[in-house]
Amino acid sequence: MTDYIFAPPPVSSVAIAGTDARFPVRRIFCVGRNYAAHAREMGGDPTREPPFFFLKPADAVVDSGTTVRYPPETGNLHHEIELVVAIGEGGVNIAPERALEHVFGYGVGLDMTRRDLQETAKSLRRPWDWSKGFDQSAPIAPLLTVADIGHPRSGRIWVAVDGEIRQDSDIDQLIWPVPDVISFASRSVELKPGDLFMTGTPEGVGAVGRGQVMTGGIEGLGEITIAID
Ligand code: MN
Repeated sequence: MTDYIFAPPPVSSVAIAGTDARFPVRRIFCVGRNYAAHAREMGGDPTREPPFFFLKPADAVVDSGTTVRYPPETGNLHHEIELVVAIGEGGVNIAPERALEHVFGYGVGLDMTRRDLQETAKSLRRPWDWSKGFDQSAPIAPLLTVADIGHPRSGRIWVAVDGEIRQDSDIDQLIWPVPDVISFASRSVELKPGDLFMTGTPEGVGAVGRGQVMTGGIEGLGEITIAID
């Protein structure tokens, strides 16, 4: 047995609906600009360029129902409601036609973003990490398993702040659907069980402040509620 100098960190995990068992998280891959209207609102071109990825640390996940701290060093914390894909079986060079065989389940997540830090990073051509990978930046609702719900290809995706709808679209608007996202990523890294994908957000991103509550959902995949302290 390895002799660690202190106790290894606890395993980050996401709840699974209908069971006390939890999904252990290995990595969180996020897709940028995967809805055309959001790409445009961020000043981008929504033509089908290949998907690009950034990461959040595994321990950024928090459960639905958590009150998260307003993060430091930002005055513009944004909500990004997203379809989350949980990988149950790893692989490399996965063909899109086989990609869904690697999925354990799906969920609703929030890719919380320090938008001011991201804009600075973009303008200085620096990495996005500090704007995306901060503590508690990946709230994720309980996963639903493929065994229970199959593979959702459409369904309303929405988020409200204090009851006011901010983002309201459909996951059928994804520029790169889930099989393509998995396939592209698997050409660059070996996917492993426990990997999560946050598949991108639709238009309507905006600021959320202290004392506010975000409630969002995807049709057929349940809802997420996160308060900001
Ligand atoms: Mn996002």
